[in-house]
Amino acid sequence: MAIKKIAIGGISTECSSYSPLHQNKDDFTCIRGQELLDLVGFPFLEHGISPLPLFFNKSVPGGPIEKQYFDQIKDQFISEINSLGKLDGILLLMHGAMYVEGINDPEGEWMGSVRKAVGPECIISVSYDLHGQITDKIINNIDAFAAFKTAPHIDVQETYQRSASMLVTAINDNLRPIVLWSSIPVLVSGEMSSTFVEPCKTIYESLDQYNEINGVLDCNLLVGYVWADTERATASSVVTCTNERAGSEVCKKIAKAYWSSRKDLKSDMKTGSIFEALAWLKSEFSIIADSGDNPTAGGVGDRADVLEAFLEHRIDHSLFAGIASKTAYEELKKGDSFNLGGTYGGGGPELKLKADSVYFKNQCAIVKISKTTIIISKLRRPFHYLKDFHELDINLDDFKILVVKSGYLSPELQSLSTPSFMALTEGSVNQNLVGIENKYRNKKIYPFEDFDDYLPLVSNGKSKVT
Ligand SMILES: [Zn+2]
Repeated sequence: MAIKKIAIGGISTECSSYSPLHQNKDDFTCIRGQELLDLVGFPFLEHGISPLPLFFNKSVPGGPIEKQYFDQIKDQFISEINSLGKLDGILLLMHGAMYVEGINDPEGEWMGSVRKAVGPECIISVSYDLHGQITDKIINNIDAFAAFKTAPHIDVQETYQRSASMLVTAINDNLRPIVLWSSIPVLVSGEMSSTFVEPCKTIYESLDQYNEINGVLDCNLLVGYVWADTERATASSVVTCTNERAGSEVCKKIAKAYWSSRKDLKSDMKTGSIFEALAWLKSEFSIIADSGDNPTAGGVGDRADVLEAFLEHRIDHSLFAGIASKTAYEELKKGDSFNLGGTYGGGGPELKLKADSVYFKNQCAIVKISKTTIIISKLRRPFHYLKDFHELDINLDDFKILVVKSGYLSPELQSLSTPSFMALTEGSVNQNLVGIENKYRNKKIYPFEDFDDYLPLVSNGKSKVT
């Protein structure tokens, strides 16, 4: 028997429609070849399947993707698929929260084009972020689906492997799974729906139990992405199954569980304004998350609101990690005066500053102004790992306060077990949800509207399923 062939690839980013910073090819890194196979880490050959890596393009979340770039990269993906000849399957690695002006459903367009290219027989298995969006068009074009079950995400490769495993089984056992979904009219931030705290902890744990039901393969809850004002924005339950009736039952149960918990969705961190954050400051080492400008959720990462407040109130021994500003980085290469704030388009106060000392490492300028240290990064980037500080020769023990551009803290920062506070700051990913612009979203979504009459409807992408 001829060896079966599958392709692997996709595109992953999260786009705030509130960000002024458009994404194009310069924002994406491209993973190809063996590196892409290693990223998935699934032993396809042991199952008699030859995996053919295409490309996986990934960016730090940001603003809308330029339509020209989206069209071009999608066309390139399709032409690479076409160059492989007949495929038995494809593993699509997607995030699910792209926003492209003029395209209602970019992932739906992507998957629709893939389906057209590979034909109706080819099995399409998808891996997704739980902050992704689902539509009938997406579901109608795919055969298997698995999304992350942790946020912060610590099961990325496991999720790729769940999708890979369903793909391999479908090809080798000659079966065609069904994907069902149900929209849930709830949209909250990732910070309010961490899977490590209730109510989501219990709901996500229940997904593994539902997977044990006969005829059910893989159960998912997607909280969706709140900072894109689009028609398709919603939370959803998604179930891959071989028995439509069993799958539909579970899909409704997951949807109901999330809906019933909606009023318990709250941030597990202490929250408040910048000034409440200043009043909260502890004598021991503590962390403040500047959440409205968090680049890993789609914020720009260049705002200086918190820095301005700290400098005004002369709060010493603080470390800002970091503020993105290519222009400030270049000014500091020439002298000690520099301007900070809003230089990438994120807005907020503009500060004229003078460095007492500065050194450069890893495309960052590490600036000292009196007893405040600021990491100015040339590029937009998070500081989520302890190695990010070590690499810049920064010892956190030298500081009393760390200010990061973040929502909920990354697992490594959380592991410091230090008091933390989420400042509800301005920016493209403002956590004050009821205040954000809401022109295109379905208005009947909690918390934008509070209502009680919701009954989950299940769809297979083509029609309603009972
Ligand atoms: Zn996510």
